[in-house]
Amino acid sequence: MRPNNQLGEWIIRCPDCGRWKDARAAGIVRIHARSVGKRVLGMCSDCGRMRWLRVERVEDLLEAAQAIERMSADLEAGRVGSA
Ligand SMILES: [Zn+2]
Repeated sequence: MRPNNQLGEWIIRCPDCGRWKDARAAGIVRIHARSVGKRVLGMCSDCGRMRWLRVERVEDLLEAAQAIERMSADLEAGRVGSA
């Protein structure tokens, strides 16, 4: 089961507090692939003020999370550096 079933393709994330939300829920629908890494001015409900929120692709984040999991497993298993 994919953990992002409830999510759209994009999220926006606050660089200050780390809070994120579905870009669609934030009313941001016109995002294209070349928008990745860009920032959009938006309201962060945690900070309570306008922030330059990072646009990130859910797929990229999941891949990064999986890569980190693999790296952690390799570290724990002592597989690092033995290749
Ligand atoms: Zn914030």
